[in-house]
Amino acid sequence: MQQFPCPFCGLRDEREFWFAGEAGKTRPDTTARVSDEDWARYLYAQRNTKGAVDEAWIHLTCRELFIMQRDSVSMEVLGVRSLREPEK
Ligand SMILES: [Zn+2]
Repeated sequence: MQQFPCPFCGLRDEREFWFAGEAGKTRPDTTARVSDEDWARYLYAQRNTKGAVDEAWIHLTCRELFIMQRDSVSMEVLGVRSLREPEK
């Protein structure tokens, strides 16, 4: 079983984590009218970048949301950061 690093708890069993989606998406401004196409793109479209990608994950034990960077080909974990840290 693979282990994932939580920025708060350290290495933990991967079954303690939940994938929350691609990181870095900008939610459409819902105070204005949002077209169905723009809303669907926000919800479902993925960049499908090959290589290093930033993903939002939740560690179910501590309930913290954080960013995990993984290689989309090998699925190797390249790093994690708390959302309290500035983006590099
Ligand atoms: Zn944790």
